[in-house]
Amino acid sequence: MSNLSEHHMPSGSFNIPPQWQVTSAKPNTPKIVTHLTPQGLRLLRTPSKPITDLKQAAQVAEWLKNTLLDAANQVGIEGVGLSAIQIGIPLQIFVAEINGVLEVFINPKIKPTSPQKEIDTEGCLSLPNIVVPVPRYKKIIVKYTTLQGTKTQKVLKGFNARVVQHEFDHLQGKLITDYALYPSQIKKASTTVTS
Ligand SMILES: [Zn+2]
Repeated sequence: MSNLSEHHMPSGSFNIPPQWQVTSAKPNTPKIVTHLTPQGLRLLRTPSKPITDLKQAAQVAEWLKNTLLDAANQVGIEGVGLSAIQIGIPLQIFVAEINGVLEVFINPKIKPTSPQKEIDTEGCLSLPNIVVPVPRYKKIIVKYTTLQGTKTQKVLKGFNARVVQHEFDHLQGKLITDYALYPSQIKKASTTVTS
């Protein structure tokens, strides 16, 4: 149970569904949306809209960072990335750990630089009890806007490329379970690093 009088979300122009305005024990730390309720699953399936207001982006980025750091408290696992829809905000922004540094990606677009993919086991903070083998492009270019409003791009490989592809999927309402070729590929989680 949360104490709403002490820990409600900061006011702003966001239209956050009331059920997600409950926070964890920390201020400015929204709750992670999971698939465990019908409302949560519906939200996770919602495509996100581009961001036009950088102030709004800065606020959401702060919430995302706080929530990612609080993930172990909230869902019992640690993460390496988090998309705005995972805290109930359908805007195209996510944070992802790239070589150990948490970076913010606004309005990202992804292009593979070769058709080569590799399969690895992935988890998700919004599906905290599940892992699935997911094929991802080995090397991508991600074009995005920074918090300063600069348009930029990064070439990413391996695990970095995987994390960004996972978060990018969230912006389209796509989940790791969509990659399962048959139900038995969806397994109970035993790993701790997810996004
Ligand atoms: Zn995820």
